[in-house]
Amino acid sequence: MKDEIKPLFVHSIRKYLFCGDQKGMERLTPIIKKVMKENVSFEVVFLGEKEETDISMWMRNQKMGTFLYIAMEWSKLENFKNVAVECGFSEEEAQFIGHGVRMIDVFCCKCHQKTKIDSGKLGNLLTTCSHCHLKLSVSDHYSPLQGSYLGYANLETGSDGR
Ligand SMILES: [Zn+2]
Repeated sequence: MKDEIKPLFVHSIRKYLFCGDQKGMERLTPIIKKVMKENVSFEVVFLGEKEETDISMWMRNQKMGTFLYIAMEWSKLENFKNVAVECGFSEEEAQFIGHGVRMIDVFCCKCHQKTKIDSGKLGNLLTTCSHCHLKLSVSDHYSPLQGSYLGYANLETGSDGR
């Protein structure tokens, strides 16, 4: 499953499901309009109102050939993604659209603990490990094993004055 900033329209689906919070729904609106135009069946659930358990019941009751869109704040998106996977939605059957500030974990090369940073700064960021205070240069190397981006000791700001 891919994380997207903008939803992409997927063709030739029997039924579409749209879930989102207020902002998420705004992002989904162009896709919803397309679906309405094509006269395909769809359901919309506003996630501000529903508990996660309701959502999983609803997802489980969907038939094969259904495509799911979830547009949420990044901080909540991960939870809903897990629910969708548990309910049997595969990579080809769902799109997740995040908005707002996305916090990611950086894995410290020294103490092997995680520090949260704003992902907008990924790739060109220096941060300080919140555990051992080592200056870290954040790579764009994502480690699925650690569930975080790898932070390397920042050698450029050494104290030798060169
Ligand atoms: Zn550390």
